[in-house]
Amino acid sequence: MPLIDSALSFIAPHHCLGCQDEGQICCQKCLKSLQINPQDLVCYNCQISKDVHYGICLACQRKQSLNGVFWYANYKNKITKDLIKALKFNNVHASSKVMATSLKECIPGEVILKTKFISAVPTANKRVRQRGWDQAKLISVSLAKFLKIPNKTLLIRASSFDQIGASKADRVKSSEKFFKPTRLSLIRDNTIIIVDDLVTTGATLNSAAKTLKSAGAKEVYAVAFARQPLKRSN
Ligand SMILES: [Zn+2]
Ligand SMILES: [Zn+2]
Repeated sequence: MPLIDSALSFIAPHHCLGCQDEGQICCQKCLKSLQINPQDLVCYNCQISKDVHYGICLACQRKQSLNGVFWYANYKNKITKDLIKALKFNNVHASSKVMATSLKECIPGEVILKTKFISAVPTANKRVRQRGWDQAKLISVSLAKFLKIPNKTLLIRASSFDQIGASKADRVKSSEKFFKPTRLSLIRDNTIIIVDDLVTTGATLNSAAKTLKSAGAKEVYAVAFARQPLKRSN
């Protein structure tokens, strides 16, 4: 446990965001209650089709660079939102560990077997500077440990374009130039899992996958703790 978290948990132990039980930021039972029911799962991209393979419907597969997207939690649950908030403002290590624990459950075994590296979708530099940490990287490092697959930085931000407050059209447009590949020899011909905390439009994840594929990646899968619904489904 990182020093700051262990010091804090000594002074003030975590209370479950769901049931308030003392111990973890989210207990096993409450974490399980966040898991999306398989019959409620819709395509990560169009959020309409239920006929999905690895989280993407056939029509969307043709337009995607991603080979699959897996996510764990129902975004509409308050505990999900509180865990994501905790990542950004406090309790970051406790929250990222809980998320990594859940993510390892939603990736199919055959995908884990062929994956060579795990890599975080890098958070915009400005956000990292403000907070002092990159939450996606913390989840990625933790997940890599659980899966015994090396975590490597394979992507860097190509532009400092800030997504918060931008329109969807702007985000989609600018996402084309979001990332640059690093360590080409590690990317080429390999299957990679990219990690993020929350999927918003999906454009960012797809742009990251496109960048890795252009650099020679064989397959790219993405995992995120939750998928934010499109406005119309609210
Ligand atoms: Zn609980
Ligand atoms: Zn679709």
